[in-house]
Amino acid sequence: MSTIFSKIIAREVPANIVYQDDRVTAFHDINPAAPVHILIVPNKEIPTMNDATPEDEGVLGHMLLVAAQIAREHNIAESGYRLIINTNADGGQEVFHLHLHLLGGRPLGPMVQR
Ligand code: 5GP
Repeated sequence: MSTIFSKIIAREVPANIVYQDDRVTAFHDINPAAPVHILIVPNKEIPTMNDATPEDEGVLGHMLLVAAQIAREHNIAESGYRLIINTNADGGQEVFHLHLHLLGGRPLGPMVQR
């Protein structure tokens, strides 16, 4: 089932898009958790990481490389950043269109709550 992210990718719903090509779209998170909070999303509708197949290997790798490029462009490559893919309930996933969070611009603290 389609989510709001498909409408953003199709530019039917506004978002602050920072990068787009034939495989991925990247845009600022509407509710940023850090000074830089950008979502890198495959244009193809993959609901969760569990639904990714070997066919998606290329786009998944591309998402990581695009994230690193965006980090450089936002001057957080050297200070550091975190890449997160939340999956299903325990992962805290809210939008069921696979996405990679790029977070940075301040010390992000412990990786997870203990
Ligand atoms: P998840 O919890 O699924 O990993 O993260 C979903 C993220 O999408 C959240 O950080 C949320 O703020 C963001 N988000 C949800 N709806 C929209 C939207 O309509 N536009 C944008 N730009 N971000 C959204």
